[in-house]
Amino acid sequence: MKHSFTEIRIPIEKDNPAILRDESKCVKCGQCRTVCEKEIAVGKMYDLDKTGDNAICIHCGQCAVVCPVESITQVYDYEKVKSSINDSEKIVIFSTSPSVRVALGEEFGMEPGTYVEEKMVSALRKLGADYVFDTTFSADLTIMEEASELIECITKNEKSLPQFTSCCPAWVKFVETFYPELIPNLSTAKSPIGMQGPTIKTYFAKKKGLNPKQIVNVAVTPCTAKKYEILRPEMNDSGKYYKDESIRDMDYVITTKELAKWLKEEEISFENLENSSYDDLLGRGSGAGIIFGNTGGVMEASIRTAYYLITGEQPPQNILNFTPIRGIDGIKEAEVKVADKVINVAVIHGTANAKSLIESMNDNKHKYDFIEVMTCRGGCISGAGQPKTSFEVTDMIRFKRIAGLYNKDNTIKIKSSYENPDIKQVYKEFYGSPLSDLAESMLHTAYNSKNYMLNNILENENI
Ligand code: SF4
Repeated sequence: MKHSFTEIRIPIEKDNPAILRDESKCVKCGQCRTVCEKEIAVGKMYDLDKTGDNAICIHCGQCAVVCPVESITQVYDYEKVKSSINDSEKIVIFSTSPSVRVALGEEFGMEPGTYVEEKMVSALRKLGADYVFDTTFSADLTIMEEASELIECITKNEKSLPQFTSCCPAWVKFVETFYPELIPNLSTAKSPIGMQGPTIKTYFAKKKGLNPKQIVNVAVTPCTAKKYEILRPEMNDSGKYYKDESIRDMDYVITTKELAKWLKEEEISFENLENSSYDDLLGRGSGAGIIFGNTGGVMEASIRTAYYLITGEQPPQNILNFTPIRGIDGIKEAEVKVADKVINVAVIHGTANAKSLIESMNDNKHKYDFIEVMTCRGGCISGAGQPKTSFEVTDMIRFKRIAGLYNKDNTIKIKSSYENPDIKQVYKEFYGSPLSDLAESMLHTAYNSKNYMLNNILENENI
């Protein structure tokens, strides 16, 4: 047996790219097993006797969040990024996810939800970034592709409904492992980070005359599962574009927690930093891109753009503030009327809730067109890479982080992804249109069943 006292703690493989274990520190509290079974469901969906003692993990890291003694922690990769910064041949480009900016301040004594975007950009420049971009730009790109895919599905009946979102890599691996029959229902649109990487190494590199082989792409995220996502073999579309398989789309993922640790080690006084803005071309996101970071945000963002793409008109206020899918209930349902169509949607956080919904769909009573699933409670604002300070991450903290995102959405001029001038430009100058051949090859992906892992036919460890 590779794993000890698994009736109390969850097993974790040594080569897990996102989560580290140190069994000697374990106090046998059982909290990791409880969260993995009750919120994530994975812990009760396989049997080590059948997997050949191989642990199954979707890399969400919620076990590390609840572990009180650092017996389970996230993997730290920021030292590798430091080495790239110290290499004068490398061009290091950071891209920051929406949720990082409403939680990073907590590490420096600020209230949860404080919006620290400009200080965060400034901090990354101090650390030696050559460019700093906003992954919110690519959240808009994801919406353009995913909403276009949904409309094709609904109007042409080309793909199975419901369409599930696929921007949470832990959820994608959950489907691939436990419900491979639903793979055709997953949106093929890559996650924002999955789109940001190849867009930087092709479109941006060409515009600036940079050698893509010198670019080191670093995503700063709230999420440990992104460390796994960027290692998926298919995340090398920029390499395929240049016919050089050594080029990966995204090179490293560091979390909010890692960024804070790094800043503290460098003795950078975060509170006193001057404000700084993102660099041009991939540095602007809409309000829709910003709210991506919370449960229901991807759905709300998609509805804004789907409304425009179907009707050619700006969405009305009740679509721009689609309140039925806001809040922290585990499963939310709503109907959206767009022109003569009624779109039935559901929003879920927690893969245990997703399991319940999937099983209820089998009774044929529930008909949905579009379903958003995020693995972490409240969405990415409480990903496992978010700060773990003296504040216990309660729903009150989650609400404050979510409010930080919606406050920005309420004040930003560009509310919807299709209005973002940088998105218009990247389609005009590079991708052509959503679902074009180039967009399909760089911004969409495919999924493969991992169901074999449940029965000891491991092919390539956890990837
Ligand atoms: Fe990562 Fe967000 Fe999914 Fe959590 S909900 S695993 S933070 S993508």
